[in-house]
Amino acid sequence: MSRVYNFSAGPSMLPEPVLQKAAAEMMDYQGSGQSVMEMSHRSKVFDAIYQETQALWREVMNIPDNYKVLFMQGGASTQFAAVPMNLMTKSGKADYVLSGQFSTKAYKEAARYGDCKVVGSSKEDNFSHIPLLDPKEFRPDADYFHICLNNTIYGTVWKELPDTGNVPLVADISSCILSKPIDVSKFGLLYAGAQKNVAPAGVTIVIVREDLLGEPMEGTPTMFNYKVMSENDSMYNTPPCWPIYISKLVLEWIKNDIGGLEKMEERNVRKAQLLYDFLDQSTLFKGCADKDSRSIMNVTFVTGDKDLDAKFVKESEAAGFVNLKGHRSVGGMRASIYNAMPEEGIVKLVEFMKKFELENK
Ligand SMILES: *Cc1c(COP(=O)(O)O)cnc(C)c1O
Repeated sequence: MSRVYNFSAGPSMLPEPVLQKAAAEMMDYQGSGQSVMEMSHRSKVFDAIYQETQALWREVMNIPDNYKVLFMQGGASTQFAAVPMNLMTKSGKADYVLSGQFSTKAYKEAARYGDCKVVGSSKEDNFSHIPLLDPKEFRPDADYFHICLNNTIYGTVWKELPDTGNVPLVADISSCILSKPIDVSKFGLLYAGAQKNVAPAGVTIVIVREDLLGEPMEGTPTMFNYKVMSENDSMYNTPPCWPIYISKLVLEWIKNDIGGLEKMEERNVRKAQLLYDFLDQSTLFKGCADKDSRSIMNVTFVTGDKDLDAKFVKESEAAGFVNLKGHRSVGGMRASIYNAMPEEGIVKLVEFMKKFELENK
């Protein structure tokens, strides 16, 4: 067996101990005689998995008691609509910050359901940094304020949260969930697709403050309704059983093997630093994100020459470093170095980049 270093932005690497455990339990989950893929979601054995997974989310992320953890479907993109349908119900207004493509998509989707205002954007700078904000632009009667915490395509991250007063802060945390501790109490709602740091694609994690579980807009599909989802333990219909189970294994890995999210963060910071330190002294490669906005999950860089970028991607692939090509809309390179990427993978990548630099002076 040989495994590559996979820098995919998502779906992305899973921790090897998780894959091994899933493989070991594949044919006969804990004496049940079935795979988790095959069992009824109403069975006792799956209920135990569900309960343990819920408890682990709360423990690992330190989620306060007045928040619900929902397992939804349709990916983060479905939440672009579900958030306004559930939350934009009082003044019918919401404020959005555009820090990249996903936040722009979230804004466009929400604007179909109410009065959405862009209160900051870094589009003119090709989203190379988190936008500077003028709090005077924020609307105090908005039903919520939306940000995308880590911008997967551009490799930027919010270092400080905007002060939105009593307006609930909503964040898309798809590409930074579980990468470091998050103070959940600062948010009204958090959501994330699973396929970056949590599990295979298929489950979407929604963490929502209980007082926001009201009546959604008229016409909201039942499957989008947070209140219905919450009242039915996310099992109004068949939940994505397999990704839920894998998220349990990932949470156990973070808790038992890594030692929790503080340790996870230390590890992730160390990994990202290896790459950024190299980029900062390289004569060939250059980081794309402004230094004060740099993400520890997605590192974007270029050579400044499209043909050379293409050559790098091709040669890196042949050397066992896959998916380093930047997002199709921005080009260049991107190394997504989520939780499961071992430090060794980055050390080896930097060695490869040094060699490429020497050969292409
Ligand atoms: C990947 C990603 C999305 C899209 O997620 P889907 O689950 O494919 O809908 C949205 N937001 C961010 C920040 C992402 O990284």
